Amino acid sequence: MGMTVLKKKTGYALGLLLCIIGGILLLILLWKWGDTGVFTSSDMLSALSASFWAEYHDIDLGIGLKLIHYTFLGAVFLVAGSAILVARRERVTVTEEVTVMLECPHCKNQWRETMSKPHLESMGYPNVRTISRRKCSKCAKFIRPKIVATEE
Ligand SMILES: [Zn+2]
Repeated sequence: MGMTVLKKKTGYALGLLLCIIGGILLLILLWKWGDTGVFTSSDMLSALSASFWAEYHDIDLGIGLKLIHYTFLGAVFLVAGSAILVARRERVTVTEEVTVMLECPHCKNQWRETMSKPHLESMGYPNVRTISRRKCSKCAKFIRPKIVATEE
């Protein structure tokens, strides 16, 4: 259980980190285009394509990085980061269902029900163990069923 949460958090942090790095790389690209006057150039297309391979010493980080690398890496990081975030979200929705064992306080009849984890947490479980009023299927009395156990 604890491990699953940790994995989810790591996945989320990794996805977010990749998105942020990708965003920063693309922002540098935009900034460089603005800085070198590509947007105001009379021939914007050729200025754009020329800028991809031009050598800018303030962004090459001493290893010859060019705007084409920033574009490519930025896009890859953004796509990978978003994919991780989306995948993580889907997995979370699947696992957030919890099977609870309910008990009628009157006749002790027990039955299983599926509840969503956020709902369970929002009502104060595990401190609060009774759920909303309903009719018991066995003794036909209106009761507040008690959660006796939860199964992941
Ligand atoms: Zn009952």
